[in-house]
Amino acid sequence: HPAPTDPRTASAVIDLGALRANLAAIGALVAPARVMLVVKANAYGHGMLPIARAARRAGIEWLGVATPQEAAALRADGDTGRVLAWLYGEDTELAPHVAAGIDLTAHRPAQLARLAAAARATGSTARVHLKADTGLHRNGARPEDWAALCAAAAEAETDGLIEVVGIWSHFASADSPEDPSIADQQAAYERAGRIAHEHGLRPPIRHLANSAGALATPGSRLDLVRIGIAGYGVDPADGKLAADAGLDLAPVMRLRAQLVAVKPLLAGESVSYGQTWTARTDTVVGLVPLGYADGVPVAASNVASARVGDRLAPIRGRVCMDQLVIDLGAGATERPGDEVVLFGAPEGPRAEDWARETGTIGYEILTRVSGRVPRVIM
Ligand code: PLP
Repeated sequence: HPAPTDPRTASAVIDLGALRANLAAIGALVAPARVMLVVKANAYGHGMLPIARAARRAGIEWLGVATPQEAAALRADGDTGRVLAWLYGEDTELAPHVAAGIDLTAHRPAQLARLAAAARATGSTARVHLKADTGLHRNGARPEDWAALCAAAAEAETDGLIEVVGIWSHFASADSPEDPSIADQQAAYERAGRIAHEHGLRPPIRHLANSAGALATPGSRLDLVRIGIAGYGVDPADGKLAADAGLDLAPVMRLRAQLVAVKPLLAGESVSYGQTWTARTDTVVGLVPLGYADGVPVAASNVASARVGDRLAPIRGRVCMDQLVIDLGAGATERPGDEVVLFGAPEGPRAEDWARETGTIGYEILTRVSGRVPRVIM
């Protein structure tokens, strides 16, 4: 479906060259570990299919998604590579996904039984990654339940219905590499691996790290790193981790628009709903055709800035549903049609800036860009 906005008026420009450069730099940093690109949630708002195709062309062997339905959308697009999906429900029908060769995760023996049944029904083998809870306390088998999970998996492996290809876990605080929980989780992961070994499991792929872990905790890279945010050129921790790892990540998404109005605002006049900002001196304001229905946070009101040429133009007044107002400054010469970048300009603002200024995380700045905004691939 075409997005209901003229892409010339406003769009999220997706720079596949930046994606390729980020993946190459991350790949070189973590080698010999391999890179899984996490493309869940519409590839963090960038558009899952074009991102997945570009990643495959760049040699990425693994794609990661949350739901099997996301994995199925990759298959429907013709993707035949390795895909791991890690979040499914009690009523999710697993047989089509097992038959489609999608790797799935399990953290309870009941899930293994369902995967084995799906394999039997489809005459295939379910490729499974066992998930250990090492401290995030979302899903994953707790330490006291881990041995039983391994025993069930070993038995199902003997039947040929299941192949345990991975043991994995997920960090709680990888963005704070000094946090003692990192070492604790690594130790818990190693213990889980030893117990799996005692049960005769020999999974070839051990994976633990997300972007922050891969950048800041080299010992967590193991066989495979699951890279989301850093692949999209956004630092997992407000600019600190990529630079420390010697990486110069390039933003993949640029949220930009053309000004639709430019006009003077006199001292004492205010802009937008609630009149939350009043000009102290005469100035010139520009109207940007993007608002909270497009994913611009209302929290950006009066705090974030846009790039206009070589300067920053602050957002004035409250962000509306479809539009927002920026302060171009007295004497501004911009005209309707001139280009504005809200975030993702290499020279800033970046998604990290918007996250800091609006009290959220870069992940949310990217993923909240809504379906109304056309994604323009370059
Ligand atoms: N692994 C899992 C299990 C995830 O849920 C995610 C995303 O939240 C990632 C890896 C990628 O994380 P990041 O975007 O921080 O690299």
